[in-house]
Amino acid sequence: MNFKELQQQLAQTNTRLIAVSKTKPNEQIMELYELGQRDFGENRVQEMADKYEALPKDIRWHFIGHLQTNKVKYMADFVHLVHSVDRQKVLKEINKRAKQSGRVIGCLLQFHIAEEESKFGFDLPEAKAMLEGAAFQNFEHVRICGVMGMATFTDDQDKVRREFQALHRIFDTLREAYFSDQPHFKEISMGMSGDYLLAQEEGSTMVRIGSLLFGPRN
Ligand SMILES: *Cc1c(COP(=O)(O)O)cnc(C)c1O
Repeated sequence: MNFKELQQQLAQTNTRLIAVSKTKPNEQIMELYELGQRDFGENRVQEMADKYEALPKDIRWHFIGHLQTNKVKYMADFVHLVHSVDRQKVLKEINKRAKQSGRVIGCLLQFHIAEEESKFGFDLPEAKAMLEGAAFQNFEHVRICGVMGMATFTDDQDKVRREFQALHRIFDTLREAYFSDQPHFKEISMGMSGDYLLAQEEGSTMVRIGSLLFGPRN
């Protein structure tokens, strides 16, 4: 897929492109960097930290993978946005490490919207319980900027669309209940190479696209 065409397509709705560069070498990242791309997504902390060290410092690194608490410290100094916060324990650790780094780290709450068992994420009652809980009120070094989700891997377009709609409704519910006075709560991270057009139609503000830009992964 042509990068410029993709950019134009996404610009129609102000949807931000996160170029998912996991497993891809720095040279391929730099090709997109030279074209103006600054947001890159990775799903392994060590790989992201290595790329951060080697590449230009104005790249915004998005962490999109399942996060183990013992890895948070390796990215707390530089990560731009963590898309995949799926339990309170992880948020607590991000808060702790962000404080040590003198930062406030942007986070998205990942929701389980797909039918597949294996996909991580909150459901709405769990997220509400966390947001209303006492512990959360003390997390001053994280900023919840929105929600993230992955649709079921299927050819059934209606199903994928319904799952994106469900995530959008979760976003609206949370914004109204907890973030109505917080303009930074504005992101809906949904859509990948196979379903980003549907996601865009359903109000995605960030699409995470890998193989369409970089070619298939091994
Ligand atoms: C790998 C990955 C993507 C990108 O997938 P493509 O199908 O290659 O676009 C998006 N989101 C997450 C969470 C991923 O792990």
